Amino acid sequence: MEAITCTDEYEHIVSDVMYVTNNIPGPGIDLDEFESEYSVGCSCTIQCSNCSCTRGSPNYVDGRIVDEKLSGPIIECNSHCTCRENCGNRVIQNGPLDSLIVLKVNGKGFGLFTNKCIKKCQFICEYAGEVIGIEEAKRRVEANKNSMNYVLVVSEYIEDRVTVTCIDPKYFGNIGRYSNHSCEPNANLVPIRVEGPVPRLCLFASRDIEVGEEITFNYAGGVASSVHNLSDTRCLCGSNNCSGYLPHNSI
Ligand SMILES: [Zn+2]
Ligand SMILES: [Zn+2]
Ligand SMILES: [Zn+2]
Repeated sequence: MEAITCTDEYEHIVSDVMYVTNNIPGPGIDLDEFESEYSVGCSCTIQCSNCSCTRGSPNYVDGRIVDEKLSGPIIECNSHCTCRENCGNRVIQNGPLDSLIVLKVNGKGFGLFTNKCIKKCQFICEYAGEVIGIEEAKRRVEANKNSMNYVLVVSEYIEDRVTVTCIDPKYFGNIGRYSNHSCEPNANLVPIRVEGPVPRLCLFASRDIEVGEEITFNYAGGVASSVHNLSDTRCLCGSNNCSGYLPHNSI
């Protein structure tokens, strides 16, 4: 896969996890499909707001995701595009915020925090990990029943087709794997494509986030929240409308 400009300088604080800045293919994934890349790009000369990559209207304004685009699909400009590297349709490919820190949270293990304010709709980081097939995802969710489950299953409804992406950052992941679930989250998870058809799951602030706040998202939310049941794991988000248990993706 083509190298992309990404300034992810983080590393793991736990030794049994391998830091990967981008998704890697895991069991149940067709390698050719995983590595396939778009062969075309837009032919803009300066900015991209209304081209084949942005599909008619900008995905981002001043680096912040546009609300109407939260449900996708979003494709960023790639190496085949003729626009400049600072074109406004290149956001997540530039890497995560540099203000993220991982701290211990009572009862929840670790959590993801920020030491600078984050503005609403700003990109925070990717939730990168091992991309796995649906059968493998089922197997892992079952195997993790009594421990921390990191497998995220995201269903997208694009042009009458359902695309399911399963990502597990338990053993291979980036800084995003420390973000916990909350029933009242401050970030959205959005699938975004850059170099090819396998989406990258990206966290964007859903409101302004203050210094020292924990960054959370709804594990069952996202684009098209597929039907989910509540798991046996107690939710410790502490919000007023907490449902009591972590959501459990039905896969
Ligand atoms: Zn562009
Ligand atoms: Zn363009
Ligand atoms: Zn483009």
